[in-house]
Amino acid sequence: MKRKGILFVMTGASGVGKDTIMQAALSNIDNLYFSISATTREQRKGEVHGKKYYFYSRDDFDKIIEEDGFLEHADYVGDYYGTPLKPIEDALKRGEDVLLELELVGARKVKERLPDAIMIFIAPPTLVELERRLRGRATDSEAKIQKRLARARKEIEAVREFDYVIVNDMLGKAVKEFTSIITAERCSSKYLLDSQIKRFLKEL
Ligand code: 5GP
Repeated sequence: MKRKGILFVMTGASGVGKDTIMQAALSNIDNLYFSISATTREQRKGEVHGKKYYFYSRDDFDKIIEEDGFLEHADYVGDYYGTPLKPIEDALKRGEDVLLELELVGARKVKERLPDAIMIFIAPPTLVELERRLRGRATDSEAKIQKRLARARKEIEAVREFDYVIVNDMLGKAVKEFTSIITAERCSSKYLLDSQIKRFLKEL
């Protein structure tokens, strides 16, 4: 018997470096399934359909909502984002741990539906630094940057809803902290199966 997978939710402002932390961490951590989200936002240069996102029209996105195909979905500064339900259910059943990257509204919905989810918040060192990073990547219009900054402020205000907080002031440190959280959670006694405890006892 294998334990069920652990669900990790990573949240943090746009531009805070979630993707970079995740990419670095995923190459160090095995048995971690990264969920590919659906979105109606415009595909940025270099983004590949089916890698980090499935890019859908609003109609196609609405169809998935109607079919109850999302674990959660949310509106983020005018675009829709959603987590496809089936691949996550399957991975958790297989005993694989799952990592979701969600904005705050979606993260709250997941926690409500699956209260055992482990919530990790990635914070910028300051909002000024976040603004500098958002402008530096030059993927959004000025209006979108302003909306993303306003949203970032709201997300930071909700930081106490999370189990863990990582301040991304130095990438190497942030990756190490992220990896340590996953490792520590995997060692938690709350996931021990009775059959494992019996086995320990036999070996005494
Ligand atoms: P971006 O447009 O910068 O790729 O993402 C914008 C925001 O949407 C980020 O905060 C990201 O974490 C969040 N996001 C990405 N995928 C999902 C999803 O499936 N559901 C929700 N609720 N948020 C998502």
